[in-house]
Amino acid sequence: MRQWVDKLRKERTLRPEEFRQLLTECDGELLRYINEQAQEVSLRHFGNRIFIRGLIEVSNCCRNNCYYCGIRKGNPNLERYRLTAKSILDCCKQGYELGFRTFVLQGGEDPVLTDERIESIVSAIHRNYPDCAITLSLGEKPCEAYERFFQAGANRYLLRHETYDKSHYRQLHPEGMSCGHRLQCLQDLKEIGYQTGTGIMVGSPGQTVEHLIQDILFIEQFRPEMIGIGPFLPHRNTPFAQSPCGTVEQTILLLSIFRLMHPSALIPATTALATLTPDGRERGILAGANVVMPNLSPQEERKKYNLYNNKASLGAESAEGLRILQQQLENIGYQISFDRGDYKQ
Ligand code: SAM
Repeated sequence: MRQWVDKLRKERTLRPEEFRQLLTECDGELLRYINEQAQEVSLRHFGNRIFIRGLIEVSNCCRNNCYYCGIRKGNPNLERYRLTAKSILDCCKQGYELGFRTFVLQGGEDPVLTDERIESIVSAIHRNYPDCAITLSLGEKPCEAYERFFQAGANRYLLRHETYDKSHYRQLHPEGMSCGHRLQCLQDLKEIGYQTGTGIMVGSPGQTVEHLIQDILFIEQFRPEMIGIGPFLPHRNTPFAQSPCGTVEQTILLLSIFRLMHPSALIPATTALATLTPDGRERGILAGANVVMPNLSPQEERKKYNLYNNKASLGAESAEGLRILQQQLENIGYQISFDRGDYKQ
């Protein structure tokens, strides 16, 4: 099956039946081969430099009830928090001093964080740090809200589509949320001019190879600037508490497929992958990832942004652990890039 890997690298796509074979029949040797090919493509595009993004988890309050997510509204066992504007700006200050030039504001869909408040926080970050990129990951909003944030200085938006298949979407989300609306949001973001990120959880409950093929083909036509691929990990207080984790192997296989299809995309080695296995970050990079997102949130709140069991937020996952990260990267022949790391074709 090496021919499918070679074809994917050369032509940047495959026929559905070829993807199916790659996804179902990939053994250890082929996985090593596709990971090597994807790493080579990433090295050609970006050299041995890994971009860092400072992740600020602004609120764990959410109006949604996604069945997989630990901060879902229906989890009564979570201590809720919301950072103040001052606290978010303090995180940026600390991050800026450490060398971060991208801040990612991520959170639940918190009704108290109104469009006005978000707009004013984005403006303040933009005013104080005009040389930094501002990424938002705050879920589904009206198009006008996305426009306001963009005008205020936000440049990038992360919104995983989670699954392109309508009935699978329904298995993962309650009534009232729809795949169609999520895709409309992604379209709006792109049209406004955001560098847009989307993606999936690998091994989410009910996910089949056919779903993955649809996800690959959707991402191929959407052409996002950023692609977020991490394993599904269960959370004890969700309806999927007993569901198995996504596997490292399938996650890095998909990561490599996306790298071969989208050589210039920004693809993180995710916290979920680093949580699943201690060398997850390195394995992600060696499979073609070129971004890591250390946690800049205030230490006392980090454990409350509990999306899945045992979520990593210390050591190399933390902004203050940059030296540990640097060492881990050096061990596999990479270095941190302190550039903003905008998308370039
Ligand atoms: N509310 C925003 C949104 O919906 O995009 C941003 C926050 S949401 C918690 C960020 C991402 O976390 C989701 O897109 C989802 O893919 C991921 N996530 C949530 N629960 C997870 C789980 N149990 N395992 C792995 N990833 C998870």
